[in-house]
Amino acid sequence: MSLFASARYHVNVNLLGKAFLRWERMRLARKLQRPWTHEHLGPPLVTAPELKELISRHYLKGQHASGHRPVAWVTSGAPVEFLQALGFFLLYPENHGAVCGIRRTAEKLCSAAEDHGWSRDICSYARTDFGAMLTGETPVGRLPKPDLLLCCTNICQTVMYWYRVLAHHFDVPLVLIDTPFLYGDAPEHAVTYVHRQLEGAVEQAERVAGRSLDPVKLRQVTQLSRDAVDLWMQALDRCRHRPTPMTAFDAFIQLAPIVEMRGEPFAVAYYSRLLVALDERVASGVGALKNEKIRLVWDNLPIWHRMRWLSERFARDGVALVASTYTNAWGELAPLIDPERPLESGARTYLHVILNRGTGHKLGVIEKLLADYQADGVLLHSDRSCKPYSVGQIDQRGRLVRDIGVPALLLEADHNDPRAFSEEQVAGRLDAFLEVLQA
Ligand code: SF4
Repeated sequence: MSLFASARYHVNVNLLGKAFLRWERMRLARKLQRPWTHEHLGPPLVTAPELKELISRHYLKGQHASGHRPVAWVTSGAPVEFLQALGFFLLYPENHGAVCGIRRTAEKLCSAAEDHGWSRDICSYARTDFGAMLTGETPVGRLPKPDLLLCCTNICQTVMYWYRVLAHHFDVPLVLIDTPFLYGDAPEHAVTYVHRQLEGAVEQAERVAGRSLDPVKLRQVTQLSRDAVDLWMQALDRCRHRPTPMTAFDAFIQLAPIVEMRGEPFAVAYYSRLLVALDERVASGVGALKNEKIRLVWDNLPIWHRMRWLSERFARDGVALVASTYTNAWGELAPLIDPERPLESGARTYLHVILNRGTGHKLGVIEKLLADYQADGVLLHSDRSCKPYSVGQIDQRGRLVRDIGVPALLLEADHNDPRAFSEEQVAGRLDAFLEVLQA
């Protein structure tokens, strides 16, 4: 690490960047004080400016991280607490992909990857990342080059091949955590198997960071992770109220700190404030929609490039997405996180993520969300390029409709590639589905 890089980091992130982002946050907060005039949507959450500041600051830190602190690129469901404790800056290419999706740059980046030979059938996050890697283009300014890659296969096998490409391109070490697929609760030998890999990963990360892992620091980071995840689950639980104080569209955005900043004290502080804001809404009867009529559960990733279009369309019809398997997945494992046994409990926690479990488990989660959030139906986003999340949905829809009598619709789209989305087709299917629900 160099003194010059550290000085540059301090000036650009802690002085200039901090001042600018604070000013920007105050400007947005003032804007929120103006009378809210949207016909169908309720007012934005008062924490929105703070969230924007947190996310912008995260990417600003990334821009200036190289040379100041080690950088690791990690998969979204990877056990990252030991990297946090070693002082790594963590970049999540999937989160960056989502930012590209929202800012409408993903299509161009996916095309760049396809021009270099990657198939359009590959996950659109991976193609977005390859496009950014090849062109250097990103809506967040600049991505730091990784010193280490951490890939955990608990979400899919695609990430393994994806990270091998990154390792080859950047010529940096790749740490792979292999998680056996679960058909029930994890057997002890599977936990031991992942635990041992984590111990090996710590050794590799220590070599890259040039320092040893402090067990006290690891426990502190793990406690912060658990606190943030706990608060996140509580925030989601507030959506059981009628009207719901936030929808899944809000939650998809609010999820950013839990994915890329868990283990940081400011993520805990942010979710504490979010909880207060949601409680104030519940107490004063302010809903995410002005006129909530129908409550639905969402399955699968968001459609990042159509968030606004979909949320406005749903709000127009009084449809509130009150829960989603995707946002729930980041909260439901909180009880497994044990700061006193960080690596072992990390192995257990990260083994049990929803995508590492059978389709029957996911159906059970959907049924639980339907009951807990008193929802009227389910929207299953059949995601063209996320096969692990979409496999089994036709059967799940059949069981929901046939066995428990819940209306359910399969919507074909893609989380990050707008070319796999037809507004006319989706609008037509939604209209027909809502007619059934309103009948
Ligand atoms: S295929 Fe699905 S689970 Fe795998 S990285 Fe892409 S979006 Fe994530």
